[in-house]
Amino acid sequence: MRLSRFPLTTLRETPADTEVVSHQLMVRAGMIRALASGLYTWMPLGLRVVRKVESAVREEMNRAGALELIMPAVQPAELWMESGRWEQYGPELLRLQDRHQREFCFGPTHEEVITDIARRELQSYRQLPVNYYQIQTKFRDEIRPRFGVMRAREFAMKDAYSFHMDADSLAETYEDMRLAYCRIFDRLGLEYRYVQADSGAIGGAVSHEFHVLADSGEDEIVYAENSDYAANVEQAPAPAPDISQHPAPTENLVHVDTPGQHSVEEVSAFLDVPLERVVKTLIVHAPDNSLVALILRGDHHLNAVKAARLEGVDAPLRFADAEEIKERLGCPVGSLGPVGLNIPCYVDAWAAVLSDFVCGGNTEGTHYTGVNWERNAALGTVCDLRNLEDGEPSPDGSGSVRSARGVEVGHIFQLGDKYSQAMDCTVLDPDGNKKTVIMGCYGIGITRIVAAAIEQNHDEHGIIWTDAMAPFRLLLCPIGFDRSDAVRDATEDLYRQCTESGIEVLLDDRGLRPGVMFAEADLIGIPHRIVISERGLDESQLEYQRRGSSEPEVLALDQFPDFLRDRLTSD
Ligand code: ATP
Ligand code: MG
Repeated sequence: MRLSRFPLTTLRETPADTEVVSHQLMVRAGMIRALASGLYTWMPLGLRVVRKVESAVREEMNRAGALELIMPAVQPAELWMESGRWEQYGPELLRLQDRHQREFCFGPTHEEVITDIARRELQSYRQLPVNYYQIQTKFRDEIRPRFGVMRAREFAMKDAYSFHMDADSLAETYEDMRLAYCRIFDRLGLEYRYVQADSGAIGGAVSHEFHVLADSGEDEIVYAENSDYAANVEQAPAPAPDISQHPAPTENLVHVDTPGQHSVEEVSAFLDVPLERVVKTLIVHAPDNSLVALILRGDHHLNAVKAARLEGVDAPLRFADAEEIKERLGCPVGSLGPVGLNIPCYVDAWAAVLSDFVCGGNTEGTHYTGVNWERNAALGTVCDLRNLEDGEPSPDGSGSVRSARGVEVGHIFQLGDKYSQAMDCTVLDPDGNKKTVIMGCYGIGITRIVAAAIEQNHDEHGIIWTDAMAPFRLLLCPIGFDRSDAVRDATEDLYRQCTESGIEVLLDDRGLRPGVMFAEADLIGIPHRIVISERGLDESQLEYQRRGSSEPEVLALDQFPDFLRDRLTSD
């Protein structure tokens, strides 16, 4: 491809409204253009990268025996009513009506549609197991679309769904998918981790996520230093405190004035009590909209996913706002505490083993000191409400954990019979009895991977593509293409050799000044670059540089065919 025929519009400045580096670089390199919030056009340069990801995914899915199909993006509401998700899914589901006022949605995921297909197509145990997949556009009306294609509203996903007679068969396919995912991310050259996960709105019991490690990642993952244990922090249990260490009360309950002191940090400093002996009281909604208190030690962080899993707490977690708290509890949020609080209380285990602690006084500008459970406040339900933190003991008992940030690029689930039961998806077993099948489902965020790869591989000049994801493998940068016959002839010859060898080559034939040409080359991140100059040609030499390495190498002109064969034709 010649750059004179491939309109690139690159930007020197960081575009407004872009928070993360991948979004900035994708816009600056001209890979994507925004149409509206969370909606992006993939420009030719960007689309080439998407296609690379798709083909790695497709090849590994095929290799693992999955069968590709394509389902409609628009789905009838009836199927979602059958599964119960028409009510459950909430505003993330884009609902539409056709001209006959029939209800549809734009698919955020395809469990319902595939289960409908399976119940029509599959009659006998002999047809199982089977694993169908598609690579397709999804729509989720995300509450906060951000970071460009990382959290878009319309995005490409590979989603696969497997059907089984029994749990062993499901476990086998699940493991095959896990290995296929590892091969995909290895091939794409990404640094990733495979972690235990919460199965969220999709349902089912066992689930794992794949995360590309990057500091800007929205997820926190924890992994053991000495074992394979790794989990999303949403899922990782905090260590249980030793109940026998629970000290006896020594202080009397005192109601103290704490004017203007609201946060636990302020109260801890004001009363000169360590933060871990001040508890915080957070107010959230129950499913019936009544209020519930969550109580944690001041130095611990609430884990919203763990809290939302509690029966008396609505999912996803909904915090009560200041006005509602004031109205219903008669006290502002920064002065609340469990003493005499007459709403259900969930108490994190580490707050439950405190004695002589400090909490809000339930009137504006006051706190209690010397608080002890049962003596001064009913304990409520003790549970795990907080994050497992870096350096704490690993849940598998193998030493301590580290924490890291990750971008979720894949998620696999053992769904069990959640959809097949609700939608009556059965086959005949060997004895001729109807049996409800069980299912697995396996997603990969195709377009999110592109952004995640850039988060992981870039420098101050631009993107650094891995060979497998690069839009082009090789960039030819002739200096003086517009004015030197020698340079032009040599470059055309190299270009011909590349195209004849099937190498995806980009030729910068625009005759730009070298500074401009190289700055753009660095920005778009083609992994291999050859510079052709008159001075080099006088000595029958080319200059080779790998994107991201600081040192160029000299390459003899007659070695170019070997260079292509050795460095550019392998995967
Ligand atoms: P998240 O927790 O990031 O919202 P999810 O758990 O809702 O993701 P899944 O339902 O597991 O996502 O979807 C499978 C994959 O699709 C995810 O692992 C992710 O890579 C991708 N994905 C999900 N939502 C988006 C989005 N809004 N934009 C781009 N990719 C997405
Ligand atoms: Mg997920």
